[in-house]
Amino acid sequence: MNAVVLKPSRDKAVRNRHHWVFSGAIRDLPEFENGAILPVLSAGGDLLGHGYFNRASSIAGRMVSFGGEPPEAAVRRSVERALALRTGFFDPALTNACRLINAEGDGLPGLVVDLYGDVLVLQVATLGMERLKPLILDLLTAAIKPRSVVERSDLPARSEEGLEGFEALLAGEPVEKVRILEAGIPYWVGLAQGQKTGFYLDQRESRKFVREFAAGRRVLNTFSYTGSFSVCALLGGAVRADSVDTSAAALELAQENFELNGLGADAGLFFTADVFEFLREPALDHDFIILDPPAFAKKKTDVVAACRGYKDVNRLAFQRVRAPGLVLTFSCSHFVDEVLFQQVVFQAAHEAGRRVRILQKHRQALDHPVNIYHPETAYLKGFLLYVD
Ligand code: SAH
Repeated sequence: MNAVVLKPSRDKAVRNRHHWVFSGAIRDLPEFENGAILPVLSAGGDLLGHGYFNRASSIAGRMVSFGGEPPEAAVRRSVERALALRTGFFDPALTNACRLINAEGDGLPGLVVDLYGDVLVLQVATLGMERLKPLILDLLTAAIKPRSVVERSDLPARSEEGLEGFEALLAGEPVEKVRILEAGIPYWVGLAQGQKTGFYLDQRESRKFVREFAAGRRVLNTFSYTGSFSVCALLGGAVRADSVDTSAAALELAQENFELNGLGADAGLFFTADVFEFLREPALDHDFIILDPPAFAKKKTDVVAACRGYKDVNRLAFQRVRAPGLVLTFSCSHFVDEVLFQQVVFQAAHEAGRRVRILQKHRQALDHPVNIYHPETAYLKGFLLYVD
């Protein structure tokens, strides 16, 4: 049979429903075309499931089904279950944007799908998922009936798969930006040139927290992107919320988000600046600093350098925050787990010589499920810190 056979001592992860097959775990690889779905067998000949394979990728295979379930049926079922999981999560009159498919978190490696109002936005990371795209799109379109479907697969990781970045309108009318609602708050989501799929839905619960906790505070929202934390802080009664990002385009949309929410020009400043340099400026009087940097570790080998980046930015925030004050700090690198991130924050506190206490832990919002069998799906972790 045209199947992948795993080494005798290396099949535990797949038996435990982990989605990734590393080349080191493979005993026999048949002839196949990159991107093809193949059965995966144990050395003893048990059918462990099906995965799509790509010789060019460091993760040789990604499982789409386990046990005897045919792969196409499993993909259909994963899509149906992903939609079922989100049913009833949100009151559509208040929140109309959510993640519908969260890659391995929904059993569909290489695929992220977000819904912004009636616009569906896809991100495909792998060749194998590229082949499954038509099937999945048919299912989603039938279930959601979106006005437009946009693909924003401008991921650097695609080069490893032999794929170019790809951005296109797949169906419906062109959309440059779409207005969404989250917890009753409107935001613009840029689809022409935004980042990721356009909006950081994973921070929904932390935005809610900021709205509830910012009253009377002077907030500095670093790595602000389109300013959603700033908007929430101000609607929650912050005295001021300043936003810092290197992307002028993101800050332009942030200003539009202020206008959309009736927030005046005196509500906060927008700095097009590198946060590492900005935080070295002495004249800050913020007593609530939000740090939500991009993933500093994009691969495992980046972890040491990434931790240095996280440590530096947290140390600077601890030195700069007006005490007693709050720092809400995040890491969205899945290679930096919560234990490691806490150690980095400890080191930063130690170097800053400040007293730092953890008040709360934060994580990705509930429409970004973590697959218990595939813990790498837990990527966003945060701490609310009290600094005095
Ligand atoms: N908190 C945002 C998401 C942040 S994404 C939200 O909830 O919407 C990370 C942002 O950091 C991006 O907008 C990116 O442009 C910005 N960025 C990356 N490196 C930076 C740096 N060194 N200084 C300032 N901004 C940076």
